Amino acid sequence: MELKELYRDVILDHNRRPRNFGRIEPCETCAEGHNPLCGDRLTVYVRMKDDRIEDIRFEGKGCAISTASASLMTEAVKGQDKATVNALYGRIHSLLTQQDAVPDASLGKLAALSGVREFPARVKCASLCWHTLNAALERGEATVSTE
Ligand code: ZN
Repeated sequence: MELKELYRDVILDHNRRPRNFGRIEPCETCAEGHNPLCGDRLTVYVRMKDDRIEDIRFEGKGCAISTASASLMTEAVKGQDKATVNALYGRIHSLLTQQDAVPDASLGKLAALSGVREFPARVKCASLCWHTLNAALERGEATVSTE
């Protein structure tokens, strides 16, 4: 499938039916993200079990790209440990910002995000959820280190 078609189909699908939309209560590990350029706001809720993301949800209001990206992210990171999530975060960052970064097959549907590169103003829409997840996980780590 052409990357452009993949981009369109995946973004439309995940914006129309966002996966893991909602909240986790009580919220032990969560963070809020805001992208003032576009007005996207979202909250990412994470439930950790040991070093693994046992459950993740998000809610908020944003454009199609921010919603679809958050939905894709929750599917990709659920069940993963922190190191894997950090590595994925780095790969998504390259994919969104480096024009010549080639998405490899292991990224699955996340590869569709490379389509956002054609719209530089929207890169922050797509990366917002990843920054927010990162903040949530770091805050979780900070809690652990004070014990
Ligand atoms: Zn946006």
